[in-house]
Amino acid sequence: MYDFSDQVALVTGASRGIGRKVSEQLAAAGARVVLVSRSQVAVEEAAEEIRQAGGDAKAVQMDVGQLDQVRQVLSSDPEFFKNIDILVNNAGITRDGLLVRMKTEDWRQVLTTNLDGMFYITREIITGMIRRRYGRVVNITSVVGQMGNPGQVNYVASKAGVIGFTKALAREVASRKITVNAIAPGFTKTDMTVQLASAVRDQLKSSVPLKRLGTVEDVAHGVLFIASREAGYITGHVLNINGGMYM
Ligand code: NAP
Repeated sequence: MYDFSDQVALVTGASRGIGRKVSEQLAAAGARVVLVSRSQVAVEEAAEEIRQAGGDAKAVQMDVGQLDQVRQVLSSDPEFFKNIDILVNNAGITRDGLLVRMKTEDWRQVLTTNLDGMFYITREIITGMIRRRYGRVVNITSVVGQMGNPGQVNYVASKAGVIGFTKALAREVASRKITVNAIAPGFTKTDMTVQLASAVRDQLKSSVPLKRLGTVEDVAHGVLFIASREAGYITGHVLNINGGMYM
């Protein structure tokens, strides 16, 4: 559908779920893709599957929330990382619980991965985009960052933060022809939602106007669109992929 030949993409949280599907689809459309996750084995397996299908993929083991690791990886091959055209900030975790019982550690871990990680990587990668006067930054937020959700103050705060970060950065770099957008998935079938009880899942489905949970393909299509050259007049936008759950 879109042609990403000669473009280099970096996708965080690419070993499974949404990030893995986004990586597969970018590679299938011609991009050279760098897949990032904390697990070396899982991310290498995801990259190998892309290579087996004829794509160009490189696996990188890194915890996006650890500044020293981000710096170490990106400084290991500065020429390569200066040439990233598409950055998909997708790595994310949940540590749910009601505020009154939430451990400080659960608050910190979620903010560190979901928000600090995006800040650390984007700050490094954007420099090359500014120099080359081209770039697409795609940040994965969530429907709950727009609507709120009980039991997730840490996650919701991080995802609302992603939206604010997106809009501020979009204004900072627009003059350099770089677009910065967010994708807000609704409840999507991945490991993140697999632990939901089937009663909760049924209740969720019935609250979605399109009466189903999202798939990783639904989200990946939106990412590819907003990352394409064709979407060059869209910036600071939050694209909802939620079956109508929040409008
Ligand atoms: P997932 O299946 O749990 O996958 C998460 C990915 O992030 C994995 O590849 C994981 O690999 C990686 N990751 C986690 N922490 C990391 C870290 N510190 N550094 C590097 N990689 C890290 O999750 P998903 O459902 O695909 O979610 C992807 C994104 O979509 C997240 O930002 C999530 O908040 C958002 N989202 C999901 C849903 C949903 O319903 N699924 C809805 C709205 C938004 P390792 O464990 O190996 O690091």
